[in-house]
Amino acid sequence: MKNLNKSKILVASPLLPDLKLFEQSLKKIWESKWLTNNGEFHKKFEVELCKYLGVKYLSIYTNGTLPILAALQTLKITGEVITTPYSFVATTHALWWNGIKPVFVDIDPVTGNLDPNKIESAITPKTTAILPVHVYGNPCDTKKIKAIADKYGLKVIYDAAHAFGVKVNGKSILKEGDLSTLSFHATKVFSTFEGGALIAHNQEIKQRIEFLKNFGFADEVTVVGPGINGKMDEARAAYGLLNLKQVDAAIDRRKKVAKIYRDELKNIHGIRYMYDMKGVRHNYAYFPIFVDEKEFGVSRDALYEGMKVYNVFGRRYFYPLISTFSTYRGLSSALPSNLPVATKLADTVICLPMHHDLSDSDVERVIDSIKKYYKK
Ligand SMILES: *Cc1c(COP(=O)(O)O)cnc(C)c1O
Repeated sequence: MKNLNKSKILVASPLLPDLKLFEQSLKKIWESKWLTNNGEFHKKFEVELCKYLGVKYLSIYTNGTLPILAALQTLKITGEVITTPYSFVATTHALWWNGIKPVFVDIDPVTGNLDPNKIESAITPKTTAILPVHVYGNPCDTKKIKAIADKYGLKVIYDAAHAFGVKVNGKSILKEGDLSTLSFHATKVFSTFEGGALIAHNQEIKQRIEFLKNFGFADEVTVVGPGINGKMDEARAAYGLLNLKQVDAAIDRRKKVAKIYRDELKNIHGIRYMYDMKGVRHNYAYFPIFVDEKEFGVSRDALYEGMKVYNVFGRRYFYPLISTFSTYRGLSSALPSNLPVATKLADTVICLPMHHDLSDSDVERVIDSIKKYYKK
């Protein structure tokens, strides 16, 4: 029980820039007295993010939920939208807030992403779009999704909240679909306290996004649409600029942590984990494990609670499924019988602590806290 005296190991840790450098940025903001509304840091942050991510048109937001809401407004999506129940609730809430009916489709057990082979049978005359999530940063099967979308004339909006910096064969995953959204929440790979972004593919759409982000103002006296306030302030833009310089090192460390987890867990029966995908530059946003109670010896929840005894705090992302919450469970697509794979993953998952700040001995403690419960 000696681990009880040791510090808590949490599932995530914020990426923090050097405090002295952040103070210098704040000093500049104080001197300029320009706190928000497309200031110097905001402008520079958008330019640098585009460079880093390899995209041309990007708008930063004050959090990662607003860009999903705004994406649906930008493309004037209505009716029904096909989406995954295996995500953070914000994905589906964004549909609800737009008066859109979510239609849940089951996921692929290997990636955790929307199963493209199950999309077509969920399409109705009211379907207007598909809203998939690159869950854990695993890229969706964008080719198959595009083929279906093109065949039925549907829009595709990717919730890429987990996929900061993810590339497929050298190309940013954010180039897929009609629009993609990012979150810079403190628990994400890249953060600005709270923050997010919406990625477009042409100037016209980017302009519409800019109007909608700023109350619909086109100039001092012209409001061209029902916009909202989604603007990021200067302090967080400055913070983001500093974090951009260290995010690659953070991802490198996450990759090493993932390797240790995989090496150490590979001989434990009843623990499954996900592998790197061919040609993908992963960001190691999460490290989910899936517990088979019969083979491992104890249930997922017993292991989850048991790890806490050793001060190791995983999270059950994503449990419960979004489709089980009171707002959505009355939908016919929310029936567990329609979502067997998602239900299974939700019932067996634990995301292990995964962040840039984990030391080798922290990782060892996480693994030990699992092995303690392993009945060979
Ligand atoms: C974090 C997250 C969001 C929302 O981001 P916020 O910045 O917290 O508003 C949306 N979708 C997914 C999949 C997320 O993980």
